[in-house]
Amino acid sequence: MALIVQKYGGTSVGSVERIEAVADKIIGYKQQGNDLVVVVSAMSGETNRLTELAKQIDPRARGRELDVLLTTGEQVTIALLSMALQKRGFPARSYTGGQVRILTDDAHNKARILSIDADNIRRDLELGRIVVVAGFQGVDADGNITTLGRGGSDTTGVALAAALKADECQIFTDVDGVYTTDPRVVAEARRLERITFEEMLEMASLGSKVLQIRAVEFAGKYNVPLRVLSSFEEGEGTLITSDDNEEDSVEQAVISGIAFNRDEAQLTINGVPDTPGVAYEILGPVSDANIEVDMIVQNIGADGSTDFTFTVHRNDYEAALEILQNTAEKLGAREVSGNNRIVKLSIVGVGMRSHAGIASRMFEILAREGINILMISTSEIKVSVVVDEKYLELGVRALHDGFDLADDSEE
Ligand code: ADP
Ligand code: ASP
Ligand code: MG
Repeated sequence: MALIVQKYGGTSVGSVERIEAVADKIIGYKQQGNDLVVVVSAMSGETNRLTELAKQIDPRARGRELDVLLTTGEQVTIALLSMALQKRGFPARSYTGGQVRILTDDAHNKARILSIDADNIRRDLELGRIVVVAGFQGVDADGNITTLGRGGSDTTGVALAAALKADECQIFTDVDGVYTTDPRVVAEARRLERITFEEMLEMASLGSKVLQIRAVEFAGKYNVPLRVLSSFEEGEGTLITSDDNEEDSVEQAVISGIAFNRDEAQLTINGVPDTPGVAYEILGPVSDANIEVDMIVQNIGADGSTDFTFTVHRNDYEAALEILQNTAEKLGAREVSGNNRIVKLSIVGVGMRSHAGIASRMFEILAREGINILMISTSEIKVSVVVDEKYLELGVRALHDGFDLADDSEE
């Protein structure tokens, strides 16, 4: 008998009919003799709807009250799913994050899980119950309701699997696994049978929203066997594995996948003095405003001055621009400019470690399509470029094609 933690995303529980179908699916696993803990998201569109409501009251609504509001979405689905299971004659019990006691820090809207008290759940499992837990939520040490950031139900699932030492964490969603790129953008994208934690973490960090970044971090750290599967069709899905298990695969592909991020914006400050501490003077105030900086490029000009360009999340663009304008005045910089119509395209693969020339091949593919590269950044297992947003689809398709990702010869 195995202990399985399953997570069903918004589309999978998007209507009463789908919730009933999920109940049938869960019962199938239960009847095979498994113990089940099920994490659910809000019904699809619900978290967006609630966010919109809050914005109608206050466009800048955030913090504690927003969390109280957003967590209602998941509370609806845990109750409905538990009712559907009970109707079918299977004892089930719903829990909010606070009722389990998923303890988080107090960073409202993007809280981190600190610990999970799983005693209630263990007791229910011993009594033969199916346990249904609200994803995306927890409580801080003072009992305030918190949320884990968009897509956070994945993290609830993985964290519960780690706490319960589950045999597997299964993420059920509206695609049948992790693909070489978002199948909504490239129809020829191919499902991967496996991907390493390291690659999945890069893919998630670089914009593939199929799994929340923290869920992958957690799974890697606690070695939780993690699988992404379809709620709607049978299949093996994609197994996220550690490197060690990769040895038995015949030939490792150099590039595993292509990620993209539409949420980028670029800012440039031209003609700042080329002196020690200038990077800190530019980026210090940005980070003090809690704005995360992603890529950074500095060019030394011939006249002894420096041009400095960096990227931030598109939501932070206006705030970052204002800060930069203040900094420009202080430093006597020549000008400040920005562009919030850019995107980041990335190729990811552990195979890059042992293959040279991957970056230049990427640049060649983009050049053939006439796509101008604005910024470049590389690490051991990825290459990212910033391009104009109008090239997103063209660029992703060209790279997918150019690196032969649709061809499944290596599997
Ligand atoms: P859920 O509501 O189940 O959490 P999400 O919308 O968060 O589902 O994640 C699933 C979606 O992720 C898919 O519908 C797909 O469009 C998108 N996606 C992005 N990149 C990938 C990828 N590489 N492989 C599979 N799906 C991807
Ligand atoms: N309902 C939340 C969201 O839409 C959490 C999740 O679905 O994972 O972001
Ligand atoms: Mg999701």
